[in-house]
This record gives sequence, structure tokens and C-alpha cells, in this order.
Amino acid sequence: MPGTRQVERVSSPVMDGEERNLLAAWKKDPGSSAILTDIDGTLAPIVSTPDMAEVPAELKKLLRRLSEEYLLVAGISGRKTEDALGLVGLEDIVYFGNHGFEILRDGEVEVIPDALPYLEKVQELEQRARDELGPLGAFIEEKGITASIHYRNVSREIGERCVEFVKAEGERLGLRITVGRGVVEARPPIRADKGTAVRRLVEEYAPKRAMFLGDDTTDLDAFRELERLREEGVLEEVLRVGVASDEGPPEIVTEADIAVEGVDGVGEVLEALL
Ligand SMILES: [Mg+2]
Repeated sequence: MPGTRQVERVSSPVMDGEERNLLAAWKKDPGSSAILTDIDGTLAPIVSTPDMAEVPAELKKLLRRLSEEYLLVAGISGRKTEDALGLVGLEDIVYFGNHGFEILRDGEVEVIPDALPYLEKVQELEQRARDELGPLGAFIEEKGITASIHYRNVSREIGERCVEFVKAEGERLGLRITVGRGVVEARPPIRADKGTAVRRLVEEYAPKRAMFLGDDTTDLDAFRELERLREEGVLEEVLRVGVASDEGPPEIVTEADIAVEGVDGVGEVLEALL
């Protein structure tokens, strides 16, 4: 059973014969198989500024071919879906982004139904922030179903005022507020992550088997949801591909069925699926 196999961290990007055999089974029935993957750190090497991230041309080629053969190829990312599309550059795959709140396919962005009732409230908060905090120097990023107010470029005092303002508005409007480094974000108060994204895609496209490739903590939600879907009998087979890195959590390897090194290792897995 792929789900119960023990893996060891591999020191080179070269997969062993047993791992290749695991993938061989998938290519026999691509029409019932879904390939779900993280983007940053998995398809695109991590760089110091996210704007500079790039998916290597070789990988894009592989993804395009896979999307022609497989039931579903989807990129699942914390980025806005338009950013995810911009990064991968392929119109023919599905993008699940904005922390699991929106899907982009065939040129249309769709907010998940559970989050839709909060769209107006997020927009109201965004507008209030633009009126009140914009003049103070805060940057209000257009993100649709989530709102991000950046205060990195203002004084500490104004930064604190931004956080207080957004917290108070979030409470009034019933939104969840999170504070990051130089940014305060508002989002619908419902669970949405890479795990809920995986479940939604599996339920909608109904593959017999699904795999997920990822490198970071938020990808563990996807690994664990795949395992639950298999236990529930929704999926016959799952495969978790962990991309090992110095910054990633150890679980991305210990909870994986196959562990690879970096984006090169991912390319090798994708190639073996064709
Ligand atoms: Mg990542």
C-alpha cells in the first residue's frame, strides 16, 4: 500500500526502482488519475522575492503534456489564482489559490460557495481600510475574497494603528483576522486550506487516484486529506510526494510515499508519469 510505505530521505534527485514502479501504475490509467501540486518550492525554486519566482521551461512542458493525458492537473497555492497562473503560465490546468478560497479555470475565477456570503464583508473592510489607512501610507492589496493590508513601509505607530483598525473592523464584520510580518489579513471565518482544496477537487472531478506534491507545512494538510479520502474509500489510491529542503518541515519527508530533492526531483517524478 503506498500510504503505509516507509521512506528514507534520498540524497540525490534520482528515484530508485521501487519508486519508479509506484509511478508506473499511474500512467496505465491517467484518465482516472489526478495530479495535484503545490507551486512555490515544488514547481518553482524558492527565491528571495516571490515576484522573481519562475517555473523552469522543462517543467512547464511536462505539465502541459500531463494535462492532456490526465483527468486533472491542478496547482494549489497560497497565492492569488491569477498570480499562480502567471507563474506557471499554462491556461489548461486548474489553479486553486488564495489560501483555498478560490479556483481559476478556463479563464474564470470562482470563489468557493461557503466563502461567498463573506465576499461583500471583505470588500467593505477593504474599502474602509482604503479610506482610513491608505492616506496614512498603508498598501491595500486587491485580493478578492481575502484582504491584505500591508504596513511594512509606515512607522511603527501607524502600523499598530493599521492592525487595531483591521481587527476592530474584522470583529464588526465577522471576519477572521491574522497578523503576519508587516501585513494584516482578513478572510472568511471558515476552514480553507490545501486540504479542503484537495477534497473539493477530488469530489468534483472524481478521480480513482490522486497525488499531491509539496514542500512545506501547509502542504501537510493536503497529504493528510488525501489519506482521509483513501480511508473513506473516496479514493482507491493516493501518493504523497515530499520535496525535501533545508527550510521545509521534516514531516514533508516522513509523511511522504516518495521523497525527492528540490524542483529537479519533481521534474523526474512528472516525467515518470508520462
Ligand atoms: Mg511550497
